[in-house]
Order: sequence, then structure tokens, then C-alpha cells
Amino acid sequence: MTLLRALEHALPHTLEHLERIVALESPTNDKAAVDAVGADHQATLRALGATVTVFPQANVGDHVLGTFNPGQREPLLLLMHMDTVHPVGSLLSAMPIRHADGKLYGPGVCDMKASHVIALSAIRALLEADAFPTREVRVLFTSDEETGSRTSRALIERLAEGCALAMVMEPALANGALKSARKGTGLFTVRATGRAAHAGGDHEKGINAIEELAHHVLAVQRWTDYARGITVSVGDIRGGGVTNVVPDSAYFRTDLRIARSADGPEMVERFKGLRPVLAGASLTVEGGLNRPPMECDAGRLATIEKINAIAQHELGRVFAHAPSGGGSDASFTAGMGVPTMDGLGAIGDGMHASHEHILIESLPERAALCAAMLRDW
Ligand SMILES: [Zn+2]
Repeated sequence: MTLLRALEHALPHTLEHLERIVALESPTNDKAAVDAVGADHQATLRALGATVTVFPQANVGDHVLGTFNPGQREPLLLLMHMDTVHPVGSLLSAMPIRHADGKLYGPGVCDMKASHVIALSAIRALLEADAFPTREVRVLFTSDEETGSRTSRALIERLAEGCALAMVMEPALANGALKSARKGTGLFTVRATGRAAHAGGDHEKGINAIEELAHHVLAVQRWTDYARGITVSVGDIRGGGVTNVVPDSAYFRTDLRIARSADGPEMVERFKGLRPVLAGASLTVEGGLNRPPMECDAGRLATIEKINAIAQHELGRVFAHAPSGGGSDASFTAGMGVPTMDGLGAIGDGMHASHEHILIESLPERAALCAAMLRDW
């Protein structure tokens, strides 16, 4: 029986598994909730014969690693995150688990709980077919990807070291394409301080922090350069509070995306180089890049070619590839020079939105691709 056929056969079990994991809502900021997903995966990994290692965290969920064939050379790394952006309770209000038109809806179903069962069912299918590779396979479930992987980055980089391939199980692009490039992401907070004064009687003595900040909102927005793949978006702004007082403080937070590593230092420099416009005002800038871009270089194209040779052989088809505007942990492994492929997860839509869903029929094929890559890489 081919891997695809076996995984089609296993689909009811895979779906049951997926619904169980989606029902465990797991926003990044709820440690206990994310740990419940981790506990479920620990049990599954042990049942599959993996050695399980837990990396305890104080404020986010514990990271969970399953290792098969420890010590065998040139490991493969399967990289997934357990956290979602949806608050606990979404399931009962806006996002109940439901099937409709061949789609499965639910919080985090596409990003990226379907990926969890794709990877785990791929491993199960290989074990059942007695086709599991003899090399080491590392299956890492992290807990804080959606907030920038602050506690998991070092672990990801340590486990990617020396790997033949990092398989980043983020969802596929809408048409099933692999993600061959990722934007680098940054976050900056710009804070203006002025001087408070009565807005009527002492207007001339005040230094308006909101006015100061407004200059910088317009300045940083203008740094957007679509041709270079650079975007800046001020997404949060606060300051003042009452209208009859000249406000003495205000701040904004902004998202930065870059397509090319070479643009990183320049953009950071520009933010750090912001200077006050109004006499007497002061300005502080905090932040920086939190993920480097993953560029579609010759190495990435060679990786895609190798994947498509495996896909052609196993599935009788090849996959397209395209860049993704979002960020992912693929940037960390790619940044180390480890061969990396992103977008190996399910086909779906509505990530981070209330209509998030996957195409159920994509599960067996993506799992078969994952299994064939593990077996043949
Ligand atoms: Zn994701």
C-alpha cells in the first residue's frame, strides 16, 4: 500500500485526533492551556516510540520534543508551534468546530493544529509500513511562535544545528504551494515625552507629545517601499487622555517587514535615528528585528527541487512555491544556513480570523508528502 493510500485510510482517525487538539484552545498567553496540548502530544509521541523531552517555561507553555533514533547522523527536524492567536472561549462563541463543504473550521485548525496531526500521522504511517528512516528525527512543538518565539528561538536553533533539513509545518499557501520566502519582521515602540500644561491658560508652556509623535507616525509610514519589499505599519497608538491638558506622553508601536536581510540594518538605523521635532520634546525608540527574512536563494530552490522529486515519485505531482508575507520560525533555521522548507502544512484559509479552516482532503496528501520526505531525504 502506498503512503498516500495508507493515510487516506487513516483519515477518520486523523480527523478525530485533529478535532481533539483543536478543542484544546491554546492562546500563547495561557500557559496551562498550551501545556494541555503539549501533554497530549507527549502521550502520542511516547506511544509512537519517541523519547520525549520537555523544556519547562515559566510564562508560556513548555516546549515538547520527541526524538526518534537518537544519535543517528544528519537529523531531520519537524518544526511546529502549539500556540494560536485565538483566546480561550472562541470555540464556544465565534468559532465552533464544524464541518462544511469538505472543510473543517475551528480556532487554530489551519495555523497550525492540522500540521500536528499531519506530522504525527505521517510518522505513524511510516512505522506501520516499517519504512521509518534510520536517521534521527526531531519533532519539536513550541509554545510561543505567535508572539515572536522569544523563549523557543534558542532551542529551535540548537535543535536545527547539523540537521539535513528543517521541515517547517506552517500551513501551505491557499493553492497548496510551498512557502519559499518569508519576510523578516520587526517591532518598534516610539515614545514621545513633552510637558503637561493647561490647554487653555498655559497653552504656550506645554509641549504636546501627541503632536511630536504625529511627525514620526507620518515619517515611518513613508518608509514603506513595496518595490523593495519593505512595509511599515503603525498599529497601536496611545497618548494623552483629557482634552483640557496638553499631553506630556504618547507612544506608538509599529510593525516592520523586510524581504531582504541586507535591508535590516538600514531600517533599524532609521528607527534608532528618529529625533525630536518640537523644541523641548524627547523621544525614545525601543525594539528591533525579531525574525530575519528567509530569502528564496539557490539553496531554497535546490531544496524545492529535491522535495518535488520525492513528491513526483510518491504522489505523482509536484508543488508550486511562492513567497509569504508573514513571518515564521523558518527564518531562524534558514538564517543558520540549514536547508529549510516552509509551508508543508495543510491547505486552508482564514488564518488568525474567525473563518479559519482547512480543506479536509488536503490532510492525507500533505501527510504522505511529509512521510515520503522523512523516508527519502
Ligand atoms: Zn503558524
